[in-house]
Amino acid sequence: MRHVAILGATGSIGASTLDVVRRHPDRFRVVSLSAHRDIDRLAALAAEFRPARVAIADPSLLDALAARLRAIGATAEALAGATALETLAADPAADTVVAAIVGAAGLGSTLAAARAGKRILLANKEAVVLAGALLMPALAASGGELLPVDSEHNAIFQCLPRGYAGDPGRHGVERVILTASGGPFRSLPAAALARVTPEAACAHPNWRMGRKISVDSATLMNKGLEVIEAHWLFGLPAGRIEVVVHPQSVVHSLVAYRDGSVLAQLGQPDMRTAIAFGLGWPDRIEAGVAALDLAALARLDFEPPDRTRFPALDLAYQALEAGGTAPGVLNAANEVAVEAFLNARIGFTGIPTVVRDTLAAIPAEPVRDLDQLLAVDRAARAAALRSIAERA
Ligand code: NAD
Ligand code: MG
Repeated sequence: MRHVAILGATGSIGASTLDVVRRHPDRFRVVSLSAHRDIDRLAALAAEFRPARVAIADPSLLDALAARLRAIGATAEALAGATALETLAADPAADTVVAAIVGAAGLGSTLAAARAGKRILLANKEAVVLAGALLMPALAASGGELLPVDSEHNAIFQCLPRGYAGDPGRHGVERVILTASGGPFRSLPAAALARVTPEAACAHPNWRMGRKISVDSATLMNKGLEVIEAHWLFGLPAGRIEVVVHPQSVVHSLVAYRDGSVLAQLGQPDMRTAIAFGLGWPDRIEAGVAALDLAALARLDFEPPDRTRFPALDLAYQALEAGGTAPGVLNAANEVAVEAFLNARIGFTGIPTVVRDTLAAIPAEPVRDLDQLLAVDRAARAAALRSIAERA
């Protein structure tokens, strides 16, 4: 029996995780759940899964959550605030932590889980982009495990030899190839990109996801963040991480070896496969995902990414090359710019512009500690807001 804490339980990854958990009552027990502000949904999940504790990130909602739990007869203890998320992540009652909060807001809890030696099912890529330099050593020191839930990294993990441990040379790994769907604007002319709406950006052709990652998929910043994520997870320099556009999202990613072999992992575009892989590891468990019918698919297409229409990808490569705090600056600026786009304060093509301005405004420093990273994150957000104000 594995004891699972699900942080970000009310989101898209949270829902897919609970769907897999629901199929295996003999294997998994939910010990805690968290949400940002949706107390009704959190309480309903508490009534169904009977966790010992639930946490709401917005501290002003603690009393309302407790009242809601009482009203529906759920016995879970209610906690609130950012520290409550860290408490759940480090809770001795949990051996597995699903890190499914979106954005830098998930960093504290993901790091707490790493320090506490948990098995982490990592969806919260922003935490690794911002703080891979702290997260990876923390996992090594605590004996924790990281199982990637991001479908590309999960695919790469599956295509690497067991016991890979971040040493490409020893295992003959030449490079990894991340696939990208290309997003909803893959074929849209450059001139039309400036006028696309948030609704159009969030209508992803293959995946149903939260709004932030949907916009990131449309700008290709999601792939840029994933390049940086792959650097930390697999110990690869930027030059050994490639991106190819694959509109069907069936080949989830590939690993190329010294002898010319290229291994790929294929499947439906359904996050439950990667989540079930992490939950069941090292066993394979049923995930509710339909079988793949290659003859019905008939074809798989590949093309290079358009780096001119989608400059966010190269901004991410530049931040990775600059190293230190630069990926954190990139991430913070992107979070602010995506929010501004969703609130109609900037246009779609303004997103990479704000990120570029912010990277130029804040020089990279070597990573020292969490306080420094959080200070850089704040400074980058302030600089991104200035860029938005100047360009509005
Ligand atoms: P979502 O917006 O659907 O859900 C986000 C979850 O985080 C919700 O439970 C929300 O309550 C919580 N949350 C939001 N802001 C918070 C805050 N400030 N403090 C605490 N909790 C907060 O997002 P999602 O699509 O489920 O994505 C979650 C993470 O997984 C992201 O990092 C995303 O990049 C990654 N991811 C998602 C998918 C996918 O298919 N959805 C695929 C790969 C990776
Ligand atoms: Mg992905």
